[in-house]
Amino acid sequence: MATQYTQVFTRTYITNLPTQAMEFPDFPFPSDLRGKFIPWQKVKDYLFAYADHFDLRKHVHLNTDVASVKRITTKPVSSGDAHQSPNRPQWLVRTTALQGGGSNEKVFDAVLVCSGHLSVPHYPDIPGQESFSGVQLHSHDYRHPELYTGKRVLLLGGFQSAYDIMIDLYSHTSELIISLYELDVLGLGEQYKKGLLPHNVRTTTFPQAINGSVVTFTDGETFQPDVIIFCTGYKYSFPFLDASCDVTVSEGKRIQPLFKHMIHSRYHTLMFIDMVYLPLDFSLAYLQVPFALKILDGSLALPSEQEMNKEIEADYHDRLASGQKPRHAHTYIFPPRWLPSSYCDDVVSFAGIENNMELKCQCINAAFVEVCKNVMTFREYDYLDPKPAQ
Ligand SMILES: Cc1cc2nc3c(=O)[nH]c(=O)nc-3n(C[C@H](O)[C@H](O)[C@H](O)COP(=O)(O)OP(=O)(O)OC[C@H]3O[C@@H](n4cnc5c(N)ncnc54)[C@H](O)[C@@H]3O)c2cc1C
Repeated sequence: MATQYTQVFTRTYITNLPTQAMEFPDFPFPSDLRGKFIPWQKVKDYLFAYADHFDLRKHVHLNTDVASVKRITTKPVSSGDAHQSPNRPQWLVRTTALQGGGSNEKVFDAVLVCSGHLSVPHYPDIPGQESFSGVQLHSHDYRHPELYTGKRVLLLGGFQSAYDIMIDLYSHTSELIISLYELDVLGLGEQYKKGLLPHNVRTTTFPQAINGSVVTFTDGETFQPDVIIFCTGYKYSFPFLDASCDVTVSEGKRIQPLFKHMIHSRYHTLMFIDMVYLPLDFSLAYLQVPFALKILDGSLALPSEQEMNKEIEADYHDRLASGQKPRHAHTYIFPPRWLPSSYCDDVVSFAGIENNMELKCQCINAAFVEVCKNVMTFREYDYLDPKPAQ
């Protein structure tokens, strides 16, 4: 594990999910925190406590960068040994010590890629962006609201980063505009129209072009911001995967070929944990890892590579046909078919494993409903009660 851990959290950052949506099923948050939105430091404490409780620290190699993963072909030791089939190659992993240098190579029977997907910024392609005369940054680099005191700020994007930064920032800025994609999943435009957003915040359409200090939006409106903050999401990036892994990432948003958004359809010993974009975040590993283990111990047979690829393509094309964008290839926030619970149900029924995500999905749905109603107040409810007060 490399420790250039992504400093995505501001000093004041409060989680955007209630604790029981985030917690691991076998390690509850302390009872006084259940159902609440908590400061990020308490999440860090929780993760450290988890590592101590299960005595995990001895397994973690800190300050160690996975520099490369290469597929190696092994000769079958005996014919008919399922663990030696071409679908189950081994992997040569080279690591580099971040402090003091030095590298190490080791062969593994399987690789589970858990390198995260919220640290390499994605920028949309806006004509003239390079000509912008003010300050531009990605939400990944946003920290201190005081830096924007008295400024006119444009937030691009209408999802979690945009509303979190808006809430943190609006009282410092003179004017704050949230520029929404055509898919306004959280209904921030509607919330603005209803007067639910702060007095100096409004929403608008997405930029069509930038020319010097002027941003022109698709509806023809213009704005001259001092600062543009791109809340436009992240890209998948696996620079450590050698070409022999046969993994492609198209436009930073679609990893191929991943069956159930997780398993390499040709090399079953290469899997990707928690790459699905759905608000279950790190607890999703509790669903995906039992699935992975069943494949690795041979107790769950996978369909043929062709069948898996067919399902992968069908899922992608159905998404596009239903109005999603190519960037949503692994996203589960679109009702009714691509919701967090749909992904969990699919994995559970395919793998024959316990569904430990049901309550979490209900909790997320309840929170999501409140976010869509009023982004300024959804954290006020206690989500221990699955249906928050109206
Ligand atoms: C602004 C923001 C707010 C969020 N708020 C919430 C929230 O309120 N609630 C919630 O549940 N989730 C939240 N999330 C999402 C949450 O942070 C992620 O779901 C979670 O961190 C995913 O865990 P992970 O272990 O899969 O990946 P990560 O936490 O990204 O961990 C990946 C690790 O892999 C390491 N790594 C990467 N490449 C290499 C390599 N080549 N070699 C070695 N190590 C490597 C990284 O250094 C990192 O330590 C938020 C995310 C962001 C960006």
